[in-house]
Amino acid sequence: MDLGLKGKRALVCASSKGLGLGCAEALAAEGVDLVMNARGPDALEAQAGQLRAEHGVDVQTVACDVTTAEGQAQVIEAAQGVDILVTNAGGPPPGLWSDWDREDFIKALDANMLTPIAFMKALLPSMMDKGWGRVVNITSQSVRAPIAVLGLSNAARTGLTGYVAGTARQVAPYGVTINNLLPGIHATDRADSLDAGVSAQKGISLDEARAERAATIPARRYGTRQEFGATCAFLCSQHAGFIVGQNILLDGGATNLTM
Ligand code: NAD
Repeated sequence: MDLGLKGKRALVCASSKGLGLGCAEALAAEGVDLVMNARGPDALEAQAGQLRAEHGVDVQTVACDVTTAEGQAQVIEAAQGVDILVTNAGGPPPGLWSDWDREDFIKALDANMLTPIAFMKALLPSMMDKGWGRVVNITSQSVRAPIAVLGLSNAARTGLTGYVAGTARQVAPYGVTINNLLPGIHATDRADSLDAGVSAQKGISLDEARAERAATIPARRYGTRQEFGATCAFLCSQHAGFIVGQNILLDGGATNLTM
């Protein structure tokens, strides 16, 4: 299927690895020029070079932390006029409900709620002027069903979801869609580090920890960044213009919900 995206330009935040990289790869394969961002320049430049070579697209890179005001300013300057925005950043640390104080919440809200909102505020107006645009926010399955140890993430991402629910309906008349993609467990560095923690805590091997977690997913495996990226590219496509303000769960059936 031709997604009708050739010649569009996208900003994909936090995209040198994992789910953000999956989105950048899938968009580049459709002929989309990119602004890619990540904290470390080495992996970022390596991935950008690979996408230029494989797909012949233009790729600009901005190495910085997107959760800081300075980082946001640098990325927004490079991304002026983009047609597509994919927001992403690392998730907050785990803990117990009684562990967190005001500063912990402010950090989590900054990273996983106020950062994507800052990018939308800066980049939606030119999409609306052009009469076409796509925003995909990478959030989490924890928006549909809480993950108790990730209380900071549950709180910040649910706040973002509320903001998107209203904003998506305000920008839809201008041909701009905003939707959220909710990852369940995917095979990325983040999943590896969570599994390493379980392996150390239970005294089992990393493979055993992975197999235990995979057994809790009806699909009996982790998702891949390629599957995640393909869904993101479809949400950005010409065919997805009537999908507005939705929360799309990609979790192999792990969240036990009827709707
Ligand atoms: P990852 O650790 O594999 O990839 C992280 C990427 O983001 C790297 O390129 C890193 O440089 C970049 N990055 C992280 N923080 C950044 C920042 N502040 N500024 C700029 N770049 C930054 O992570 P992932 O597994 O791809 O997860 C992406 C998001 O999805 C995270 O918010 C994570 O919490 C969430 N999530 C992931 C899973 C999963 O199973 N992988 C499940 C649910 C939610």
